[in-house]
Amino acid sequence: MSPPPSRKTILTQVYQRLFAAYGPQRWWPAETPFEVMVGAILTQNTAWANVERAIARLKAADVLSPAALRRLPLENVASLIRPAGTFQAKARKLKALGELLGRYGDDLARLFNERPLSDIRRELLAVHGIGPETADAILLYAAGNPSFVVDAFTQRVLGRLGLIKEKARYEEVKTLFEARLPPDPALFNEYHALLVEHGKRTCRKREPRCRSCPLLDLCPTGQAALG
Ligand code: SF4
Repeated sequence: MSPPPSRKTILTQVYQRLFAAYGPQRWWPAETPFEVMVGAILTQNTAWANVERAIARLKAADVLSPAALRRLPLENVASLIRPAGTFQAKARKLKALGELLGRYGDDLARLFNERPLSDIRRELLAVHGIGPETADAILLYAAGNPSFVVDAFTQRVLGRLGLIKEKARYEEVKTLFEARLPPDPALFNEYHALLVEHGKRTCRKREPRCRSCPLLDLCPTGQAALG
């Protein structure tokens, strides 16, 4: 009997199957790296369509820049981003982001370059409103660094595949990917986006569509559900 496939092999197969099923996802939808950073904060606990509306309002007011967000009173920022929900809290986070960039002369290249990735990540995590998922989204999608993003979709799909425990910590899941995949930002980008797509379309929270799932033969949860 052949040994069971390693987690590295399974992760590679999952990626290939999802890419074949859904195609390239072309993330992150934004015009500039700073817009990615703003979007990474605004998307916390809300649907992307709401983020788009909030960003459109920031653009229309011509304040989608670190300096403008620092200058603008908190109440005005909150009012502009109202469609993204929890707008008072998110306004404070955006202003904190503006302060961070201000320390680097509003130059993203100075923030992101010439330092180990772990140092940049630590600095991001020290900013009000930036947790691990937001920090990694910024590092991957705004800065092009190989920092895997873990979100609720990733946790759900990996849990059902039996690759992580139900309550696995964020860093454990991140390490699972980063230790077994080449440190390729384009791969991490696509992989995360594909897991989100899979979680929305097929491996849904309720009533997952296991029968038509491209991962069924890899998935103990799906096989058990279908008997
Ligand atoms: S088989 Fe079902 S539970 Fe498993 S990954 Fe696919 S949709 Fe999710």
